[in-house]
Amino acid sequence: MKIWLFDYDLTLYGEEERCVINSLDHRISLFVQKTVGGDFESAHKIRTDYLEQFGTTLAGLMAMNQVDPDEFFDFIHQPEFLIYPKKAPEKLKLLQSLEGPRFVFTNGRHDWSEAGMAHMGIDSAIDGVLDLKQLDWVGKPHDSAYEKAEGWLRQRLPQMGYAMPADPRDIVLLEDSLRNLEPAHRRGWTTVLVSPKEDCPAWVDLHIPHLLELTNLF
Ligand SMILES: [Mg+2]
Repeated sequence: MKIWLFDYDLTLYGEEERCVINSLDHRISLFVQKTVGGDFESAHKIRTDYLEQFGTTLAGLMAMNQVDPDEFFDFIHQPEFLIYPKKAPEKLKLLQSLEGPRFVFTNGRHDWSEAGMAHMGIDSAIDGVLDLKQLDWVGKPHDSAYEKAEGWLRQRLPQMGYAMPADPRDIVLLEDSLRNLEPAHRRGWTTVLVSPKEDCPAWVDLHIPHLLELTNLF
């Protein structure tokens, strides 16, 4: 039996629905503008600079502008400004066919992925969300996030009647980001790159262009 950990953005919904993450990114730029002042263009530039320097815009805002992360997420997650992924009955079927508990492991706050999964109609197939808040706002690819994920599973699995796997290979992480898969690989987890990108290093256990391709491999 495997423990399935899914990244949310651009993994549970794919590249063909990039407008979903774009709608969120727009809100992030607006939040930066609201926080630092100036015009939208310079806010967008600060956002991308923070992304590069700190890994996420939020990490930059916390370090440089003393932003409260919940305030940030409350602003960017206002549903009337956002696009959500479309109904995905075929994904529901796929997820239900995977044996073992299935979780979301995300650098967002849980309400974003929960709302998106409800729109897709796949929420009943996911047993829980491990979000950035539960990672004390320090997410992937920091090693602490993966350590905390293992600790979280160690608590969570017995409550669901499962044992923590003795072999780390039984923890499967599916991600569109290679950077986020690398620490999982170092911990001995099984890594699945879900991305239409062609260049994939040899250490990645599986590479599929789209989540729905998973049926052919397990
Ligand atoms: Mg992602």
